[in-house]
Amino acid sequence: MKMHVLSGGRLRMRKSVYIPDADRQETIELPVSCYLLRHPQGNVLFDTGCHPSTIDHAEERWGPMARAMVPISRPGDNVIDQLKVAGLVPDDIDVVVNSHFHSDHCGCNEFFRKATVICHAKELEAASAADADKIGYLPVDWKQPMPVETIDGQRDLFNDGRIVLLPVPGHTVGMTAAMVALDKSGSFLLASDSVALRANLERDLNPRNTWNAEQSSKSMEEIRRIEAAGTTIVYGHDDEQWKSLKTGAEFYD
Ligand SMILES: [Zn+2]
Repeated sequence: MKMHVLSGGRLRMRKSVYIPDADRQETIELPVSCYLLRHPQGNVLFDTGCHPSTIDHAEERWGPMARAMVPISRPGDNVIDQLKVAGLVPDDIDVVVNSHFHSDHCGCNEFFRKATVICHAKELEAASAADADKIGYLPVDWKQPMPVETIDGQRDLFNDGRIVLLPVPGHTVGMTAAMVALDKSGSFLLASDSVALRANLERDLNPRNTWNAEQSSKSMEEIRRIEAAGTTIVYGHDDEQWKSLKTGAEFYD
């Protein structure tokens, strides 16, 4: 199985959202990542990043949220263009897993018409609630006609241990990570926003945009155990780590 790490956009935000004791004026750049997993039984995409229209018209799609998370993506920083490096088009994707339903993680779901979408049952419930758009769940992103399969616990996608979905609630109620086991490169935990930055894990710091701090800290505790057992943790939005990863056409196998 091959894993491609693909750019799903780039954002500028206040650093203090993630590191609460940072200077209020300081901003940081955040990579947005998607992961293409070429499993022998199907092509899986873990998260779909920001919609390409956010490069020029973020406010039209995101509303006031576009002022707190400012897209600074270059053209081509979206999963549709990025799939081309692996020679794929959206119809080649069989399964889309959404770690959660925030706009920078499911913004391109609409393009994957032949895929089944997998998410946590509680995430679907939260996104479907009245006023959910006020806490970052935009129907234009997550609400699509494709079939949705929900999970409510750990789920081994192909029953071979290669892609195992793991609920890690805290950032959102249905936040889900993926354990990916590769033959040569070893195992990776795609943590998404259960750990946005390395500093969150190291300092046990919950970002301001955390749904439930107690659950988030518990999830991070589990992730530290996973890391100690030899798994590489891939953070949701850590630019320093992003620069050290193989991305685009390069892959892990
Ligand atoms: Zn995010």
